Amino acid sequence: MRLVLLGPPGSGKGTQAARLKVELGVPHISTGDMLRAAVAAGTPTGLMAKAVMDAGKLVSDDILLAMLEERLSQDDVKNGFILDGYPRNLAQADALDHLLAKIGQPLDAVVKLDVPNEAIIARCEIRFAAEHRKDDDPVVVRDRLKVYAEQTAPVADFFERRGKLQVVNGVGELDEVTARVKRALADESAAANG
Ligand code: AMP
Repeated sequence: MRLVLLGPPGSGKGTQAARLKVELGVPHISTGDMLRAAVAAGTPTGLMAKAVMDAGKLVSDDILLAMLEERLSQDDVKNGFILDGYPRNLAQADALDHLLAKIGQPLDAVVKLDVPNEAIIARCEIRFAAEHRKDDDPVVVRDRLKVYAEQTAPVADFFERRGKLQVVNGVGELDEVTARVKRALADESAAANG
């Protein structure tokens, strides 16, 4: 199963991906986690990315593509993956398309977690208090939501035009949301198998 999880910051992509990877038996690839690891390790990529991430803006497409290409070349993605946090703009959607075509691993499904902005803001406040991520600061969250609306929302349209997008209500108990995503994946696979 090759799945992209879309949705605004704080919509639960990471939480749901961590649950789904167990059920689907494929790795969870989070570009945000990879960048945070690079920042923590003080790599050249991390040094370049830190200020951009703290401000809630997007790190450059070139850095992300190089990172993703390297990750998707590893052995553990042979049976698929759950991609969380990529693509975040149309150029990245296009780059992903080409990359997956090149390695002969087209996407099976794209699921968008739908969560209204008020709920996002409340969730990020809770995460900010617990984890102190600079980009969960309420001022930065508003900027991240703006970046999402302007740059990432068109990615959902891109996949919808290809008949690949499933929208799932991301509000509710964790188990309930996981069950909704699994139902969407089952529907997608039934449709794909005619
Ligand atoms: P996330 O944990 O997915 O919310 O990502 C945290 C931050 O990492 C984002 O606000 C961006 O600054 C950066 N980031 C993660 N994924 C991408 C991406 N695909 N393109 C650009 N920046 C990204």
